Amino acid sequence: MIDVLPVRTPTLPPATHTNIYRVGRCVFDVASPYPDEQARTLAWVLESPVPVDTIVLTHHHADHVGGAEALRTELRRRDVPARILAHADSRLPFTLDGTLADGEVIATGDPAHPRLTPLHTPGHADGHLVFLADDGDVICGDLVAGIGTILVAPPEGHLETYLDSLRRLLPVARRLYPAHGPDLPGPETLAMYLAHRAMRTEQVRAALLGMRAEGLTVTALSVAERVYAGVPGVEFGIAAMQVAGILVWLEEETTGNPAKEA
Ligand SMILES: [Zn+2]
Repeated sequence: MIDVLPVRTPTLPPATHTNIYRVGRCVFDVASPYPDEQARTLAWVLESPVPVDTIVLTHHHADHVGGAEALRTELRRRDVPARILAHADSRLPFTLDGTLADGEVIATGDPAHPRLTPLHTPGHADGHLVFLADDGDVICGDLVAGIGTILVAPPEGHLETYLDSLRRLLPVARRLYPAHGPDLPGPETLAMYLAHRAMRTEQVRAALLGMRAEGLTVTALSVAERVYAGVPGVEFGIAAMQVAGILVWLEEETTGNPAKEA
């Protein structure tokens, strides 16, 4: 059983909350830095039918890890040998008790999802992991979102790497449990994300060529203003970061992609 507790976090609009998931002894993305939300998280963790002792992080972004250290401290005060696990590439403001590598199965103690397999899915963040159950349920962090969009922005974000991560999940994901918003159908959502990124990339390519032909100054923001002109409620600062990721990708396509050649 996958239980969820959305907690308020300093995340990107339009999202305001991050989902904490609980599967047996594991909780994923103990996210909130706010004391009232941390108290609510602790109460929810303590009422788990399987005692929780493992805090797992999908990636190191602040809106995913803000309550992890506080929960570890509270559990240890109750004599639970709590540990925090994440991928070795994660950069965190606290120490990990262990790292998780691609394919290293976690035993959860949950009857419905006794095994979760971490899959290394970078692109949005270094060391990003998703957790695949045997039935195709996936706790997927920021690979996709039920609300808003996934930012793939340089220097950390890398579009081709992100697309490879989406493609990797496509044949195996039945249902996606994202960090923001409701759960989603796996194949349809991943296919839609791939199609949407391809569409945006072509729009950015066309805008770039058009602006150069018109002798206009090309910046990520000026391209974003053209590409996202008709999109309601768009945040142009975020859109510009997204466009910057696509511009890097187009540049790599022209000059040869070092990540692909490695
Ligand atoms: Zn993130």
